[in-house]
Amino acid sequence: MAAYDNLDRPFLAGEWRKGTGDTLTNLCPWDESTIFEMPGATPADVDEAFEAAAEAQKEWAKLPPSARAAKMHAIADIIEARKDEIAGWIVREVGGTKLKAALELMLVTQVVRTEAASLPFMAEGAILPEDLPGKESRTYRRPVGVVALVSPWNFPLQLTARTLFPALALGNGVVVKPSSDSIVTGGTIFAAIAEEAELPPGLVAVLPGSGKAIGDAVVQHPIGSVVSFTGSTPVGRKVGQAALKSDKLKSLELELGGNSPIVVLDDADVDYAVEASVWGKFIHQGQICMIANRIVVEDKIYDEFAEKFVARTKKLVVGQREDPACMVGPVINRDQLDKVMELIGKSGATKALGGEADGLVIPPHVFTDVAEDDALVANEIFGPVAPIQRARDEEHALKLANATEMGLSSSVFSRDEGRALRFARQVQAGMTHINDQTVNDSPFSPFGGAKNSGIGRFNGRWAVEAFTATHWISVQHEKRQFPFSADDVPG
Ligand code: NAD
Repeated sequence: MAAYDNLDRPFLAGEWRKGTGDTLTNLCPWDESTIFEMPGATPADVDEAFEAAAEAQKEWAKLPPSARAAKMHAIADIIEARKDEIAGWIVREVGGTKLKAALELMLVTQVVRTEAASLPFMAEGAILPEDLPGKESRTYRRPVGVVALVSPWNFPLQLTARTLFPALALGNGVVVKPSSDSIVTGGTIFAAIAEEAELPPGLVAVLPGSGKAIGDAVVQHPIGSVVSFTGSTPVGRKVGQAALKSDKLKSLELELGGNSPIVVLDDADVDYAVEASVWGKFIHQGQICMIANRIVVEDKIYDEFAEKFVARTKKLVVGQREDPACMVGPVINRDQLDKVMELIGKSGATKALGGEADGLVIPPHVFTDVAEDDALVANEIFGPVAPIQRARDEEHALKLANATEMGLSSSVFSRDEGRALRFARQVQAGMTHINDQTVNDSPFSPFGGAKNSGIGRFNGRWAVEAFTATHWISVQHEKRQFPFSADDVPG
């Protein structure tokens, strides 16, 4: 099986095209070398891609559920067969560690084989109670048509896959705009997989290009029915506003930034909470939307937790590209490094662990006694930096947990599950995990945020809601008496 060799160009209308737009440079974060340069897609390509997807979608939607499910299994087979090739791209293109690549591939395989292959059988309608004599009310579900998908660079394989395959499985076409930092792993690798799986030509298009060059064209295209965007809150706001300005009304799925807390209550198993928190803070060097941005610990166990957290963090393998146990690799690019270093510079907290960056690898940092308004807790860090906040008591811990405009993930540790559940139910977030860290995704559980972390949910029945439209069809089985006078209206 030869490796894919055409991943440096747009794919649309069933063909690989030479881009004619602005030049994009694909850099490897491990050594900042250039992987390739390519001209990106243009608004004219966007037009053609949507037209072709809409055409291909008509026949695709008519296939029986088992035929679409079979294609999802074929895609999962391809992903499994090309596991090493894809993992190699995750390491090279987004600076993933081997551990991150393995985890991302596991999640994507679940999305395709477990979730997407089941979805064609989950698009159920209903027969509804009806008061009118002789009338039957039914609901049918149909695909929305073509989905516009815009994805970020941090977990690009998973964050593209979790819209792409469910939307396809439910009978839609998809036009993908990956981030320019993950052209292959968020984009063109999926075009190659779709081609190899012999999906109908045109059904999937992948258009690398900057947000400035083609963002509005993708988001506002009159054929697109749903915009599925994953990325930062500021860009998500802009995308939402642009979509609403389109001549065609669209529904929005916005999965945005996070500032997720781990809360460790005073009756927690401290050693376990430390182990989980170190993982949930430093995996992929902190560049995950649902990463533990901050850790809130009750005063009674604070010093013990902080000391053990620093000791455990010191044992992490850092900056070793080939080591399967490497936990912390490079951040995505220089801009990101500068942003993280700036936040570190602004912090007034006590630095318990730090060090100099080597290339784009920032060694794990730990800060203790972090104030409520410290730069490290007020912002999404997206880097390997752990601020640990001291909470006076449980009430204060809850106040600190909720002191953010974001509300993506969260977690709480306690030996008393009842106490943890009462706490969890007061956390203003889309997801809260008891006795686990914040990074969790599961193919049939609702993934999404509250507050400014977004609108909409992924996975399972929530994907059916997102990527199908409900059609109410009523049948009047016998002639109705129409009320032509107010006196004839019942009630
Ligand atoms: P970003 O918002 O900078 O970019 C995301 C995507 O939007 C990219 O493809 C980018 O090219 C595109 N884009 C930029 N301007 C656009 C425009 N005007 N119109 C259309 N598209 C445009 O985000 P990023 O830096 O790639 O990713 C990191 C951010 O994503 C973090 O804030 C992180 O929390 C968030 N994120 C959220 C989730 C989630 O599920 N909630 C998951 C992963 C990442």
